[in-house]
Amino acid sequence: MTRIIRDIATLQSLVRGWQMQGQGVGVVPTMGALHDGHLSLARLARANEDRVIVTIFVNPTQFNDPGDLAKYPRTEQADAALLETVPVDVIFAPPPDQVYPPGFTSRVHVGGVSDPLEGAMRPGHFDGVATVVTKLFGMTRADRAYFGEKDWQQLQVVRRLVADLNLPVQIVGCDTVRETDGLAMSSRNARLSDAARAVAPVLYREMTRAAGAIAVGGDPGDALMAATDALHAAGFDQVEYLAVRDAASLGDPVPGQPRRLLAAAWLDGVRLIDNIPL
Ligand code: AMP
Repeated sequence: MTRIIRDIATLQSLVRGWQMQGQGVGVVPTMGALHDGHLSLARLARANEDRVIVTIFVNPTQFNDPGDLAKYPRTEQADAALLETVPVDVIFAPPPDQVYPPGFTSRVHVGGVSDPLEGAMRPGHFDGVATVVTKLFGMTRADRAYFGEKDWQQLQVVRRLVADLNLPVQIVGCDTVRETDGLAMSSRNARLSDAARAVAPVLYREMTRAAGAIAVGGDPGDALMAATDALHAAGFDQVEYLAVRDAASLGDPVPGQPRRLLAAAWLDGVRLIDNIPL
């Protein structure tokens, strides 16, 4: 059975021992309810590292909606069984008061890249992410940390954070894992009704279509409008954003620099996000 550690001191003494033997340590931060997307990060870490830690922590400070936090699936036993198949060395699953003990007051804010898109729709979300990620780096002292491109803006926020604060960790970005119909895997997909699950892949399909039209010289505004109309016609309730941005800063596209198409849309009471390169 994979060892589950819940306290910081035990984890740190274990990691110190590994590093004194010259072993490389990778960490995969997650909120649990693991699926193949998470496992692909763990498998890449397993291939690259001597030691792999997967953290499971549903971080309250990154939820701007208390209902979403309460509904977030918690499936630790099933998660541990899945991680056994990778396998990983340690699951670090601290209780909230280990991470946020009484008296905790600090907040990490990453300027600029945190502000638009997800940052605008979910105020405070990236402060919660940046704070917990900084703490997870401090708690695990891993050499490398693995993050999914599924949460593209989060990946850019974390890269900015590490560069700005000279944190001694290397960030590894990992491809988005999709269902066979194109839907990006997400713990939230389980909340979709069967009917909505059948509609959900339209998000990726329309994003791909818009990206194709833009790539061959089509007007981005027209392509995004057509995709938005198609999503509404398919049954999406609300398209929060569908935007072409500079891939690194998430600001307006810069000529000659990589661009990214990013979207967030509501279907059947579930908020889906996705992104693809342009
Ligand atoms: P979460 O548990 O949702 O916080 O996700 C933990 C990590 O897994 C984050 O770095 C996510 O970007 C990554 N992740 C989630 N879904 C996928 C996916 N479908 N493909 C690749 N990585 C993913």
